[in-house]
Amino acid sequence: MAEFVIPPVDVVGLPVSGSSGQFPVAQIYCVGRNYADHAIEMGHNPDREAPFFFLKPGYALLSGGGALSYPSMTQDLHHEVELVVALARGGENITVHEAQDLIYGFAVGIDLTRRDLQAQAKKLGRPWDAGKTFLHAAPCSELRPGSSLQSIHQAKIKLSVNGEIRQSGNLDQMIWKVPEIIARLSECFPLRGGDLIFTGTPAGVGPVQTGDELHAEIEGIGSLRVSVKQ
Ligand code: MN
Repeated sequence: MAEFVIPPVDVVGLPVSGSSGQFPVAQIYCVGRNYADHAIEMGHNPDREAPFFFLKPGYALLSGGGALSYPSMTQDLHHEVELVVALARGGENITVHEAQDLIYGFAVGIDLTRRDLQAQAKKLGRPWDAGKTFLHAAPCSELRPGSSLQSIHQAKIKLSVNGEIRQSGNLDQMIWKVPEIIARLSECFPLRGGDLIFTGTPAGVGPVQTGDELHAEIEGIGSLRVSVKQ
């Protein structure tokens, strides 16, 4: 083992249902505009444009849910409920056919977004990082290992705020399917075991206030509770 000149950052872990072990998180990849009704609500053409990606750092993970502080620099924090895919192993130039073999399991996550900062970045042609990256910007449920893509093909995905449904959709509405996302990502980036992929959100994104209780759920996969503190 190399000796580091300062202590290295700890690997963040996700709980795994039915196991006492944790899933070690490497990169967190996210897909933009992957449901037509969400693309439309954000003012875009939902035609099958090539998928595009952004990343969140490990410290964005709010592992298993819980409390987070309302982030700095924003007056317009938004929720985006998403299917999260966890990779058991990686590779480059993975085919759509091979993609299923890379999957460790699935979870439900929320791609929290400082929408005002993202909108400003879009307007100025700048990177989205300030909109998408902050402490606990990626709450994620425990992982459910071993589910096949077939078994979740038509699963319902939803999010409520204080008991009121805000987002409700179905995984079969995804424009780019999970194997296509993995294949495309692996052309762009060196995928590794431990990577998480947030796969885009259905319509109904909206603001989150201090004091709100979020409940995200994907049928057959799991549920996630997040509370927003001062
Ligand atoms: Mn998203």
